[in-house]
Amino acid sequence: MFDDLRDLYQEVILDHGRKPRNFRRLETFDREGRGDNPMCGDRMQLWVKLAPDGRLDDLAFQGKGCAISMASASLMTETVRGKTQQEARHLSDCFRELAMTGACPDCGAGLAEEMERLQALGGVSEFPSRVKCATLAWHTLNEALENSGKEASSE
Ligand code: ZN
Repeated sequence: MFDDLRDLYQEVILDHGRKPRNFRRLETFDREGRGDNPMCGDRMQLWVKLAPDGRLDDLAFQGKGCAISMASASLMTETVRGKTQQEARHLSDCFRELAMTGACPDCGAGLAEEMERLQALGGVSEFPSRVKCATLAWHTLNEALENSGKEASSE
């Protein structure tokens, strides 16, 4: 059972690493963040479009890096789409705990399903050097959400 679960998780990572979802550039966006993990060479740029009510309406990223970093970014963009900024920050905190400890923190019933999907990456906790690969997308998301000033969309 545990091995089956492990295989499933590996499959999720491989699938998202090979075919990252939302791997594109957003032409119009409200937030932008850049992430860099020099330890592994992972780099990414993230764009977020907000809905009128402040929810994360659309997200897209581009970058290059190892399969873990790309899979994590892919899963992150899928997981936080439609969420409020507060929920996204909360998921980010929970994910960091998951990546560092391997245990799924109690993030509240409202986000249980999301955390379940993210558990595919919990295995990185066994490889401390890869934790930063997995958390890079979430750091980048936090940075983007903190960049309240809209930057010139035409760079
Ligand atoms: Zn990496």
